[in-house]
Amino acid sequence: MHGVRETLSATLADAGLADRVVEVHASMRSFSERVDADEILHAFDTARMTSVFPAFSHVFQVVPDERTQLAANGYLYGSPTTGAVPEYRREHDDVSSDLGVLPRVALQRGAIRGDHPFNAFCALGPHAASITAAQTSNDTYGPVREAAANGGMLLLIGVRLGRAPCIQHPERLAGREQFVRWCSEGGVVRPAVTGGCSAAFGEFSSHVTPGLRLECLGSTWQMFDLTALIAEIVEAVVENPYLGLCGRPHCNKCRVGRARVASRH
Ligand SMILES: [Zn+2]
Repeated sequence: MHGVRETLSATLADAGLADRVVEVHASMRSFSERVDADEILHAFDTARMTSVFPAFSHVFQVVPDERTQLAANGYLYGSPTTGAVPEYRREHDDVSSDLGVLPRVALQRGAIRGDHPFNAFCALGPHAASITAAQTSNDTYGPVREAAANGGMLLLIGVRLGRAPCIQHPERLAGREQFVRWCSEGGVVRPAVTGGCSAAFGEFSSHVTPGLRLECLGSTWQMFDLTALIAEIVEAVVENPYLGLCGRPHCNKCRVGRARVASRH
């Protein structure tokens, strides 16, 4: 009978993820027995993986003054959203709760955070510094591009493809414009490019080659080659520029996204 750590390590080896750059999205609740975030991170470390996580946070968002505001920005200026922390600082460990516990624990264990006030990726392992250095306020998905350039994989642990924020990268490559939000740094309000709505990202799963599936401790894992996945999503969005935009009546980002597509045709 193997322990949890041995089983995790054996699954990573079976998946061919040793020594690879791997973007990870995980639901710890998907395991049928208790698995700690530390046990997963330990298994990644033992496999000499560079693990990359979305560590998005909205605590630094500020509302810009009227001169700074942009039209058609998926944003309702009359009902502003302001974060809890008035000044952006790169080193912090806040992560939106919907991204799961793993990115937060990774940060507590020394993961390097990319320099983006809202959509930072963080990384642990041999290539963590170069992957996160690819991120700036204007190059939100630089770490995804860098991971792909390093032969990177996407590993979904008990979550569907539609939960992977890296889809925003090929969306942008396919011509879908991003949005701008603002933070304050050193008392100066500055912009940062942020992605669109992900509510309808599940639509992409029928447009890409299904990932390799493995079972581990009751959790279904899926793996995709990032370069191939990015290419397939770009092709799907070029083919249908409305793909992945949700139809929820109150979604301003997707409403603007649809209007942008309509204005091009
Ligand atoms: Zn939407």
